[in-house]
Amino acid sequence: MFNALVVRKDEESGKTAAAVEQVAIDALPEGEVIVAVDYSTVNYKDGLCIGPGGGLVRNYPHVPGIDFAGTVEASEDDRYAPGDKVVLTGWRVGENRWGGYAQKARVKADMLVPLPEGLDTRQAMAVGTAGLTAMLAVMALEDHGIKDGPVLVTGAAGGVGSVATAILAKLGHKVAAVTGRPDQADYLTSLGASEIIAREELTEVTRKPLEAERWGGCVDAVGGAMLGRVLKQMHYGSSVAAIGLAGGAAIEGALVTPFILRGVNLLGIDSVMQPYDNRLRAWQRISQDLPMDQLEAMIQPATLSDLPALGKDILKGQVKGRVVVDVNA
Ligand code: NDP
Repeated sequence: MFNALVVRKDEESGKTAAAVEQVAIDALPEGEVIVAVDYSTVNYKDGLCIGPGGGLVRNYPHVPGIDFAGTVEASEDDRYAPGDKVVLTGWRVGENRWGGYAQKARVKADMLVPLPEGLDTRQAMAVGTAGLTAMLAVMALEDHGIKDGPVLVTGAAGGVGSVATAILAKLGHKVAAVTGRPDQADYLTSLGASEIIAREELTEVTRKPLEAERWGGCVDAVGGAMLGRVLKQMHYGSSVAAIGLAGGAAIEGALVTPFILRGVNLLGIDSVMQPYDNRLRAWQRISQDLPMDQLEAMIQPATLSDLPALGKDILKGQVKGRVVVDVNA
């Protein structure tokens, strides 16, 4: 038996409730590899899955946790042996399959990535899905060429934004960090941001087709009015890596002019559907390019029993940096 955060649904009322329970190994889904989980994290999707599911969870009872890192305990696949350190993100684990909010997980071997040299399981989850997505966004910007001018990071005090800020600064880019939380300016500066932009400055919807060119690239975690506005301020030939919609799914106020008259690229990044080679390359880049002391500054430690409250906080945009859940604490 092992501990897990189990979400149960009352069929009559349709209401869900999450609590730490003892679970038997036999209850785990099918797969070739059993992992003794060390750490998981809290992402926006986890907030949805800890609560009513937001359409992501297919079956109850459910164990959320869209990512985890741990040690292989048993494997029927030649690629993994007991004792190997592994990390998992994506594959809809924690959504339509039991995830990382448990001391054990059973998954398909294809879903795992070996932990790169230089990262332990706690650091890997301080990075987690949010950090992997930030790295994938930076890689996409690099592939298309980062132009002169600061690189803008929106939703900067959140999980993806914090990691993107730290990576871009370490790579030598000037980073302008957009936040709605002025009290987080020192935190963002400590991650390497050279300029702090107030959220309101970029969320006013304007009818202008274009504005003065300001940004050489952008990692956008917010979408909505912010993305609509930022597109009009991008340098000629630059790119926006769009990763999230914390501020809305519709690109408000957007026109085609930035694409036609400035050759701006809008690059969609989805960490869930990344092929193995890309995931491996991104994890290796993370171990090289993410300053580990700054990663420590982003960590907010948590236990399985903290998760019901944290799930609500992340949906309200109130979580700072990266929540690292020690499932054995
Ligand atoms: P967080 O909640 O940690 O960060 C989101 C940040 O966005 C907040 O901290 C806040 O930053 C800002 N924000 C929140 N609400 C608003 C709003 N209404 N208007 C403007 N800014 C807002 O989430 P994550 O960083 O983990 O994820 C960010 C987004 O990316 C989510 O939509 C998530 O679902 C998505 N995502 C996508 C992935 C992919 O594969 N494409 C993978 C992981 C996440 P501040 O306080 O600094 O303003």
